[in-house]
This record gives sequence, structure tokens and C-alpha cells, in this order.
Amino acid sequence: MPRFELGTSPTRTERATRLRHTPKPGHRVASVLRAVLFDVDFTLARPGPELGPDGYVRAGERHGLRLDPDRYEAARHAARADLRRHPELEHDDEIWFRFTERIVRGMGGEADSAYDCAVEITRAWERHENFEIYEDVPDALTAIRAAGLRIGLVSNSARDVREFARHHGLEVDAGISSFHHGRTKPHASIFRAVLDLLGVESDEAVMVGDTIADDIEGARALGMRAILVDRAGVHREFEPRIETLNELPPLLGL
Ligand SMILES: [Mg+2]
Repeated sequence: MPRFELGTSPTRTERATRLRHTPKPGHRVASVLRAVLFDVDFTLARPGPELGPDGYVRAGERHGLRLDPDRYEAARHAARADLRRHPELEHDDEIWFRFTERIVRGMGGEADSAYDCAVEITRAWERHENFEIYEDVPDALTAIRAAGLRIGLVSNSARDVREFARHHGLEVDAGISSFHHGRTKPHASIFRAVLDLLGVESDEAVMVGDTIADDIEGARALGMRAILVDRAGVHREFEPRIETLNELPPLLGL
């Protein structure tokens, strides 16, 4: 095993070796990688225009609200700062209705209908056709399957992620959303549920996601390996980290 000094940047081969063979404390023999779990939103798929500022404006019109698309980013940023998880990590639609209502009001929709407008927008996040799959996804999944690894999806959302994968032509072996499971990432039980469906142990799987607290820390708490997908390049200190899924198969040593 190569040694890694703090502050040095390991080569791709060294990182792949480390990912595949990181020994668990108490385990003398490193476990083999058998499955890759993916987060969905901002890892495999991005929300399309209907879920962005123009979609808000159109939803606002249906509720008698004139929303200013130029205020969307600031309103979303402010709502994000106020967002609190459910204390028991239970899936709770109401959290997202209130979050979206804050954005609607922040875009100028200060009226009683702001809540109903927010419910309609939140429901639009349940529609598969409102998302676009990133271009790098099909090849990455094909490479993973070709290497004989299983693929699972684990999503904090109200979508049926198996149906979502089918809709977008992605072949996966298992998938669970927080709505159907009841708990959200980073709760251990939602990761465990997908691992059980795949028939693999936590140290035989790697989690790939864009949210450090939910995807990375949640997975690592179970003994899974985890890789951050940092598409916007905002977590440059984080390791291991990739900016596109094109980097994933080589990082896994596939
Ligand atoms: Mg995500």
C-alpha cells in the first residue's frame, strides 16, 4: 500500500487503490467493492426549468401572484439558511412546503395564496419529467455495471426513484426515497434499507452524492466509503471528490 502524506495529492491510481482497499478497523482483510449507491438530485439529475425561477413565475400566475424571477436566487438562499431538518430525520413534506413558501414570498408573493402556490411547486418535484439527467451519467452507470457492481439509489425526496430511473432509461438494482422509507439521509436506516435490497454489507459499498452532511457523513457513519460529487467546484479541500461522474470509474479502479 502506498503511503499518503497530509497535503500531498495522491495520483488517480493511488486514490483508486485506497478506495478499494481501505481497511476497516478490526478487519485484517479489506472488503471487496460490490455496490455503488447514488444520491439522485444534483448527483444524477438536475431540476429542469419548471422547478426554477420561470416555473415559480408560472405557478404564481395560477395563484394570482406576480413573482419576480430576478429575486429567485436571493429568496432561495435566504430560505435555505432557515431550513431545519426534522429532529428525528423523518420525511416531512411540510418542511418543504414552508421552505418553498419562503421563496414564493421572497420573490414578491406576499399573499395568502403563497402557501398553496408553494404546495403546487413542491409537488412538481415529484414529477420525473421535470428533471434532466446529467450527460455523464449513462456512461458511468454502464461502466459500473460492466464491472459487475450493483447500483442503488438513495434519495431524500417524495419520488419513486425506481420509477424515476425507468423514466430516464437508467438501469439500477434498487432504490428508495425518504417519502417511501419514512426517514431521510443521513439517518442510518435509509442507507441500510438500500444495502439490504442489494444484498451487500456497508463496507462492500461506496456512496456517491453531492451533500456532505447527508450523503457523505451519513454513509461513513455506517462504515461505507463515500465520494463527494462537487459539480460546482465549491469543496476543493474535500477528499475524495470528483467534479463529474466521468471521474468515477477510474477512481473506483474500474
Ligand atoms: Mg443531492
